[in-house]
Amino acid sequence: MRIKTYHYQKNKGISWDEVFQNPRPVSVRSFQTGTVIINRHGTLNPNHPLAKDVQDEELEVPILAHWVHHEDKGDFLLDAGLDASYAGDPRGGLLGTDVDEFQQIKGENIAQHLVQNDINLKMVFLSHLHADHAAGVRELPKDIPYVIPKGEYGEYRLEVHGDFLEGLEELYEIDFSKANQMAPLGPSVDLLGDGSLWAIHTPGHTPWHVSFLVNGMDRPILLTMDAVFIHENLERGVAPSEYTWDMEKAQDTLEKIIAFLEMFPQVRVGAGHESGNSFKIYNSRI
Ligand SMILES: [Zn+2]
Repeated sequence: MRIKTYHYQKNKGISWDEVFQNPRPVSVRSFQTGTVIINRHGTLNPNHPLAKDVQDEELEVPILAHWVHHEDKGDFLLDAGLDASYAGDPRGGLLGTDVDEFQQIKGENIAQHLVQNDINLKMVFLSHLHADHAAGVRELPKDIPYVIPKGEYGEYRLEVHGDFLEGLEELYEIDFSKANQMAPLGPSVDLLGDGSLWAIHTPGHTPWHVSFLVNGMDRPILLTMDAVFIHENLERGVAPSEYTWDMEKAQDTLEKIIAFLEMFPQVRVGAGHESGNSFKIYNSRI
């Protein structure tokens, strides 16, 4: 596998206001590729003063991948979800003691969604390399570009997550050190060069985690990926603590996302592990 730099247009000084004044012919739809059990206590950091009343409670949440369709540029995936190897095996064929377990109904796997929707995949963007976001790569075409945030591959623990990238010809990395600072979120990259699809540096869950923004004709949609697990993270203003690399950074990122949603109320938001196709209006409960 060759590692290359993902080239993008710099658009120096552009603001979200300008981006939203120029919506593009792009839409997004989410696919459920499996299910995972998480705990509400930990999905909402129990040490945060605004989460003191959160109880231990199991939540069964979807494992998602998102299909971006651009009228001129074609079809893209944001994350890959799970491949079919989870249908009969919660560990997806991985060995080792730290492997995460997921549930999958037969036919939920990512390749099946591509067939059902007649999707001719051009490229895949991954928010980070955890199994529930990247395992699906194992059954996707190998001869298209795969794009990850620079730094994430160095954090990749094969013994936990398996080598989901095995067999890829090329892996492209987005270098956020050269990206535009776009208030209030920070470094953001125009992935397709026409303002339709953006990757936003949202560290905390992992060091180089990214969220995505789809700037469609209807309205812009922010896909937080794992910067927000469930909408309650936003409503309470409390970041997750479980599965989190750095809780302080995760909380800081969450607060930037909330500031962004307050600044641009037209933006709908999808959380990383909540019903993908009902993108919500941001509403603070506090
Ligand atoms: Zn994750």
